[in-house]
Amino acid sequence: MKKTVLITGAAGFIGSHLCDYFVKRNYFVIAIDNLLTGCLENLIHLQKNPNFKFFQIDVTSSFEIEQKIDYILHFASPASPIDYLKMPIETMRVGSVGTENILKIALKNNCTILVASTSEIYGDPLEHPQNENYYGNVNPIGPRGVYDEAKRFLEAITMGYHTFHGLDIRIARIFNTYGKRMRHDDGRAIPTFINQAIKQKNFTVYGDGSQTRSFCYIDDTVEGIYKLLKSNYTKPINIGNPVEHSITSLVNIIKKIIPSNSKITFKNLPENDPKVRKPDINLARKILNWEPKTSLEEGLRLTIFN
Ligand code: UDP
Repeated sequence: MKKTVLITGAAGFIGSHLCDYFVKRNYFVIAIDNLLTGCLENLIHLQKNPNFKFFQIDVTSSFEIEQKIDYILHFASPASPIDYLKMPIETMRVGSVGTENILKIALKNNCTILVASTSEIYGDPLEHPQNENYYGNVNPIGPRGVYDEAKRFLEAITMGYHTFHGLDIRIARIFNTYGKRMRHDDGRAIPTFINQAIKQKNFTVYGDGSQTRSFCYIDDTVEGIYKLLKSNYTKPINIGNPVEHSITSLVNIIKKIIPSNSKITFKNLPENDPKVRKPDINLARKILNWEPKTSLEEGLRLTIFN
């Protein structure tokens, strides 16, 4: 019997890749998105597929899904710093009200729900690399607080539904992910630098560029999420690529792939911008038998040329 999966945030970057993955594996996908930061273009190729149905729904509103659901993947949220700075209240509400709404639907269907948490719950980390036992260093009233605290709330209430109602949960702490379908104007480092290289514009590096991130190619992230869903692990687990790069070295890799005369223009580092970020993925290796396979250069080539 075909299983049904409900995906929130389906028109977003990761959400739309999840739709592809599950449709391809012969699940029936119910995709919902309020299109605040998501884009229907990301799903257009699925629109005529009999295993796919899209509804424009805001998970913070009250709504019902008639069909019986087997799995839920909750990925609805603005996820780029410039987006959640522009939409602080919406970001808080989707992580809180939206998450509780979707947990109630999971409970009603007695189904497994996987929620998208984030490396941002570690804030500007004082432990490096970050493993799942680290509680984080988040400024609740800083510019990134709306996203970080909403996701911390998401983890807490999801765990509450597990311990109090016995709901079957999964919590993925997703680190920086990249690939096709990131909006060119979403402000994040990879789409911004690719765009700048293509247009022969200077690279806007914030701070001195020594801050680090660990970038995971979307196909690796999606596979990790699938393996987590299919596991029976109910505590948070890091999904990310443990290979760490400084922002300057990211620029250099992009320059190698797209030759340009672009130079670096240094700009002010945004407030509370984490200085380092690198997942400890030993737990994912052990529990999920998963680790990323795609190097940054390989993944960037796939993103740029495919
Ligand atoms: N960044 C940068 N120039 C840009 C965009 C981002 O130097 O045009 C830096 C940003 O300050 C951060 C890193 O790149 O240190 C990653 O930023 P991104 O927004 O991609 O992800 P996040 O900060 O949420 O990890």
